[in-house]
Amino acid sequence: MKRKETQTLIETVMDSFSHRDNFLGISDPEKRRTVCRSAKEIIKTTDKIIKCYIRISTEKNGIARIPAYRVQHNNISGYYKGGIRFSEGVTEEEVENLAILMTLKNALYWLPFGGAKGGVHINPRLVSERELNLISKKYVQNLARDIGPSQDIPAPDLGTNEQVIDWMVGEYKTINPGKSYMGSFTGKSVANGGVKGRRESTGRGIFLSYSWLINSWSKQYDKNDSIPRKQQWQRLQTLHQKGRKGKSIRIAIQGFGNVGNVVAQETYQNDKNKSSVVAVSDHAVTLYQPDGLDVENLVTFTKQHYGDLPKNADELKQAGIQATILPAADVVTLDCDILVLAAIEEQIHKNNMEQVKASILVEGANAPLSTEADNYLEEQGRVIIPDILANAGGVIVSYLEWKQTQAVHNFTEEEIISSMSQKMTTTFRDVFDAYFFSNKHTMRHTCYLLALERLTTLLYRHGKLY
Ligand code: NAD
Repeated sequence: MKRKETQTLIETVMDSFSHRDNFLGISDPEKRRTVCRSAKEIIKTTDKIIKCYIRISTEKNGIARIPAYRVQHNNISGYYKGGIRFSEGVTEEEVENLAILMTLKNALYWLPFGGAKGGVHINPRLVSERELNLISKKYVQNLARDIGPSQDIPAPDLGTNEQVIDWMVGEYKTINPGKSYMGSFTGKSVANGGVKGRRESTGRGIFLSYSWLINSWSKQYDKNDSIPRKQQWQRLQTLHQKGRKGKSIRIAIQGFGNVGNVVAQETYQNDKNKSSVVAVSDHAVTLYQPDGLDVENLVTFTKQHYGDLPKNADELKQAGIQATILPAADVVTLDCDILVLAAIEEQIHKNNMEQVKASILVEGANAPLSTEADNYLEEQGRVIIPDILANAGGVIVSYLEWKQTQAVHNFTEEEIISSMSQKMTTTFRDVFDAYFFSNKHTMRHTCYLLALERLTTLLYRHGKLY
C-alpha cells in the first residue's frame, strides 16, 4: 500500500466513527460529526517532515550528497518512534507512509509511542564500512535537535542493524555531553545497552502471528459452523488438520535478512514436525526445495556471505543445500500454504496477484501488498495478516529496551520473549475475533478500526477535538 492508499483507508475508517451511536460518549450526532472530522484532519496530516542532505567524502567518487529524511507523523500516544532504513528505494513519500503505519501499529498495541520513520537514500551494500559509519554519524548530526529519549527514538530497519545504531548512539552522546543518551535509540547491541532478543523479535512475532492463529486461536472454535468467513475458516481448518496429521505446512519466505531469516529459524527449530520452509529468497535468487530446506545450513552460509543466499550450484554445494535456484520474484507465486513477505513494499500487485497460491499471507515487511491485491486475495478467501499486526514484535521489544534504560532491572531473554508474546496474543485475539466473527471488513480494516479508535479517544481526552 502506498501513502495515498493508507490515507484513504484511514479516512474511510474515521468517517465510520461519526455514525456509531454514542461514540466517545457523545450522543449528539452533530457534535460527534464535528469531533470525528477534527480527529480525521489531525491523523490525516503529518506533524513534521525533515529532509536534509548528508555530504561525505567517498573513496571512489569524491563528495557524495545523499538525501536523508525523518518524518514524525503523530505523537498523541507518546514519543515519536520508528526505524531508520538505508535503501535506494527511500523517498519522502515512502518514509511518510511508513511513519503513518508506525502511529497505527503503536496505537493498535497500546504502546506509549507515536509514529515516525527515517530513511537515507543509499545502497548500504555499495559503500565501505568507513563511509557507512560517516553516513550514520552525519544523519544524527543533521537531526540532533529532533531526536532524543523523550522526543523521537529511532531503531534499525531495512539495511540497518545494531552496528549502525551503536554508531548513532555514540554520535548522539558526543553531541549532547552530560545528557541522558541510553534511551535515545533502540535496537542497540547488548554490549551497548540493548536487550537480548531485539534482533530476533520481529521475526519471532511474525512466526507467532500465524502459528498462534492456526494452532491456538482456530483450535478454540474447532467445530464452529457459525463463523461467517467460510472460505478463510476452511483454509485455517485445513492447515490445522495438516499440522496435526503429520503433514507439513509449507512456508515460503521472501527476504532473508534480520526478519526473514528469523522466521525461517523459528519455523525450523520450534515447529519442525508441523511445518517446513520450502522456499526462501533475497534480492538476487529464490531457493526452492519442496521437501524442506536445511535452514541451519542456510543461516551459517549467509553469516559468512554478508547476508547473501547461495546463488549458484557451487555455492549451494558449499552451503550443503539441495535446492532449485529460481529468479528472486518467483517466491511469491510458488506452491505453498503460507507466504511470509519480509523484504520490501509492493511485492504483490495486479500483475502477479492471480498467481499467488498461499492460503495465508503474512506481511512481515511494511506494505508488501497493493490495495488491489489485498482486496482481490481477500475475495479469494485468503487470510492476510497485515503489517501493523504481524510485524510489531520489534517495536514491542524496543519498548522494553527503552523501559530498561529507566530502571535498574535488566530483562532476561525469557522475560522479553514472554512479555512480547503476551502482548501480541492479546491483540491477535482482539483482531482475529473481530475479523472472523464478522464479514464486513478486511483484517487490515479491522486493525485500522482498533488503532484509530484509540487515537481518536486520546485526541478527545486531550481536549484537541472541537
Ligand atoms: P534486511 O535489510 O535485514 O533484509 C532485507 C531482505 O530483503 C534481504 O534478504 C534482501 O536481500 C531482501 N530484499 C531486498 N530487496 C529485495 C527485492 N527487491 N526482492 C526480494 N528480496 C529483496 O531488512 P529487515 O530488517 O529484515 O527488514 C525487512 C522488512 O521488514 C522491511 O520492510 C522492514 O521495514 C520490515 N520490518 C523490519 C523490522 C525490524 O525490526 N528489522 C520491524 C518491522 C518491520
